[in-house]
This record gives sequence, C-alpha cells and structure tokens, in this order.
Amino acid sequence: MEDNKKFKLIDKIYINGEFIKPNGTEAMNIINPSTKEIIGNVILGNEVDTQNAIAAAKKAFKTFSKTTIEERSNMLKRIHEAVISRADDLTKACVEEYGAAVKAAVGRTQLTANSFLWAKEVIEDFEFTKYIGKAKVVLEPLGVIALITPWNANNSQIAIKVATAISAGCTVVIKPSEFCTIQTQILAECFHEAGIPAGVINIVNGLGGSVGAELTRNPDVAMISFTGSTKTAKIIHHGAVDSMKRVILELGGKSPNIILDDADFTKAIPRAVTSCFGNNGQMCIAGSRLLVPKHRLEEVKELIKIAVENTKVGYPWESDTFIGPMINENHYNNVQRYIKIGIEEGAELVVGGEGHPKGLDNGYFVRPTVFANVTRNMTIAREEIFGPVLSILTYRTEEEAIEIANDTEYGLGAYISSSNIEKANKIASQIVAGTVYINDVMLEMKAPFGGFKQSGIGRECGIYGLEEHLEPKTILISNENI
Ligand code: ADP
Repeated sequence: MEDNKKFKLIDKIYINGEFIKPNGTEAMNIINPSTKEIIGNVILGNEVDTQNAIAAAKKAFKTFSKTTIEERSNMLKRIHEAVISRADDLTKACVEEYGAAVKAAVGRTQLTANSFLWAKEVIEDFEFTKYIGKAKVVLEPLGVIALITPWNANNSQIAIKVATAISAGCTVVIKPSEFCTIQTQILAECFHEAGIPAGVINIVNGLGGSVGAELTRNPDVAMISFTGSTKTAKIIHHGAVDSMKRVILELGGKSPNIILDDADFTKAIPRAVTSCFGNNGQMCIAGSRLLVPKHRLEEVKELIKIAVENTKVGYPWESDTFIGPMINENHYNNVQRYIKIGIEEGAELVVGGEGHPKGLDNGYFVRPTVFANVTRNMTIAREEIFGPVLSILTYRTEEEAIEIANDTEYGLGAYISSSNIEKANKIASQIVAGTVYINDVMLEMKAPFGGFKQSGIGRECGIYGLEEHLEPKTILISNENI
C-alpha cells in the first residue's frame, strides 16, 4: 500500500442525515505524521453546530427509542456491510492520517466492522424486560448520548460506541478527535449508506473546548461516553454534574506486565515488547511497566535488545513495519520529553533514546526505547507516556511484584506470564485492573472493558456496555384496585 497523496477537504459535518456546511469557520490542516506533509484541510464545527446536532438527535430519539430489537439489529447489520464495502479506504486513511502500521490498520478496520455484528448478537440475546418479584422492570434507552473519541483508535472507538448506543435505542452526537477527520468522514459515509434514520447518528468535527464543552454542558445530552486522557475526563466529569449526566470514562493506564520466574522468557519478553509498542505505543492498555525477577535482569536485558531489534519502526505502509510515527509534533515532543526525563532521573537506557530512528527524521518517528533499573517513584514508572517507551522494574518476591503492580493511580490493564496457570490466576485476583491478560493478549469484544481507579468509570462492550445506556423503569400493577 502506497501513501496516498490526494488532498482531502473535509468541509462538511453530518447532522440529521445530511452532510452540511458547518456554522464554524475555523480551519485546520490535516498532516500525515509519517511525512509531515499537509494532506488535507478540515473546517471545524462550533457550539451552534453542536446544538443543532443535539436537537436532531433529540428529535430522532422520540421514534428511534421505540424501534424493535429486530429493526435495530438490521441497522447494525447494514452498517457492518457498509463498513466492509469501504474497508480498504478506512485502512488507507488510518495509515495515512494516523500513521498506523498497515497490518495493524487492517486489524482495526476488521474490529470496526465487526463491532456492529457483536453488538447485534448481544441485543438479540438480551432481555429488555425483566420480572423481579411483583415488579415488571423495563430497561429503557437513556436518551441522546455524546460520544467523544480520541485519535489513537478513531474508527474502532466510534464503532464500539455507536454500535452500543444504537443497540440500546439511543441516538448519538459524535465528536471525534480533530486529528482523525479523514477516517471519520469515511465512517459518516458508511452510516449514511446504511440508511440509518435521520438524526440517529450525528457527527460534528471540532475542538474539545468548543464542541466537546457544549456536549458536556447541554442538558439535552443524557450521557457522555468518553475515551481519552484522565485530565480531559476530569473536566468533562465536573462539567457533566450540573445536568446530572451519566458518564462512561475510558482513560489512561500504566499497566504492569509481571513475568514470573517460571515463565518461558524467550516468549514472554518479545510479547512484553509488542504489548507495549503495539499501535505505535499509543495505547491506553500498553503494558508499559515490565516487572521481572531481580536475579533475571541481565537475561531480560539481552532478550529485550533482540526483541526490539526485531520490531521494525518505519513507514507505516511498509508491510513489515510494527511501529509507525507519533500522531503529531506535540505528541512527538511529549514522548521525547519523557525519554529525556528517564535519562535525567537515572534510569539505565537499554535500547533507544532521544531523537529519530536513523533515516526517519522526516516524520514524527521516535526510537523504540527501553529503560532498566527503573524505580517505582521515577516519572517514567508513574506517568502514561503513550509512546514506545518501556520501563523495566525488578522484584524479589511475588508479593512484592503484586505490590509494585498495584502501586499506580491507574487500573486499566495487567499482563502476567507464567507456566503455572493456577498461580497466574491467583495473582490476577490480587491485581487492581479492569482486564488481566495471562500469557498472551486476546480479544473478547463481548466482555466488559474499562478501568479501576483513575483509569475510568463504567464499562464498554457487551452486556455491561449496553446496560450503561439503559435506565430501568419499575412498573408495579395492583390488580385489586382496578
Ligand atoms: P487524546 O489527545 O489522547 O486523544 P484527550 O483527552 O485530549 O486525549 O482527547 C480525547 C477527546 O476529548 C478528543 O476528541 C478531544 O478533542 C476531546 N476533548 C479535549 N478537551 C475537551 C474538553 N474540554 N471537553 C470535551 N472534550 C474534550
């Protein structure tokens, strides 16, 4: 797949089933992070556009909330088919606009398309009416949901959130990241192509401080489903209080990866590299703290060097690339700053370091970096870096490993490698994290996803995600006093 040079103008937003010119006039360049070339321009929406989108979603909710499971199930199927028909375009946009390695982008596109099928399967088995003692309990759709999404997984994040909201009978206003408008435009065309009723799905490109803030304060929005940084989530959570909105907040992490002494290190260490450097390291669930037995540190360092050497950083459209560029200049500088801090605070640089990898100084590429002798209080052990930077910490006993693993304000994910599944399970039960992967990263998109502590509130996906979008209504009938 070649980098596509065609200039993209995204000058429309999607409201009430139509692609319309936004009221906002602010323009922003779209930059290919692999080459720093301007590949397009987007006209951003503003507060007025957001209000119009919310009004459309509110109007559509009246009828959409009354649709049957079968009708919604058919809509989900149609969106799935529409996404499949644009799969190559979506993949290409993800490579070009975000810098995803092409292999990963193909996987992301599949995940995006399949999210609609998984949601369909979930509602087809779900009881929207339950009986509890004398009561009939009806689970009703909540209302208009604002979907605020990040740049590191634009398509799959929008897909998971839209699929769940539609399943529940809710209508949505999407505020995607302003760095993903080419990808979002393709998804908007898919929703349109799928013939979803006008106003059910609305999309406003724009900035957090305008479009995002309006979604947060507008009383006609019932819930915010947000994925992004903990810092922004706090602003949203504060802002949502006045109108008593529900929130689902899927946030950052500093996930531990515990390698037990009995693990096969020749497999576990390369896995540790991919579970931290996947998605260019820009991954909320990245296993960014590698915890290894102290007496195995030298062996780990040798295996890490080999694993990183075998992990290609390069142009994302090259089929063997694993790590592409950082999303933009700001983020590139941020990751560089963390590498510098790691060195200054006295961590041992095992591989990588500051600057660009050789021959890749035209884009926002960083050198995949691993630090050893990282201590718990170092900045690189505590803060989410969101780039291909891995910190190795050591432990003496398994109890200490658990204590270090939990010594973080986050609680999104954890990884454990061991040849003893029983022991790994026992450790998993003591780790404070929303998802624990034992011996490999696996995907189960009907299982709940979300975090403990500062990694968030609520869960996405499957029944748990669906229930967040429903409000139970209890109906008690007295037959004696008719
Ligand atoms: P990231 O930059 O890693 O995606 P952010 O938390 O900054 O993480 O952004 C996630 C989403 O939140 C983006 O769509 C962004 O535009 C939006 N956003 C940023 N600031 C605000 C805000 N004050 N209110 C609502 N949304 C916001």
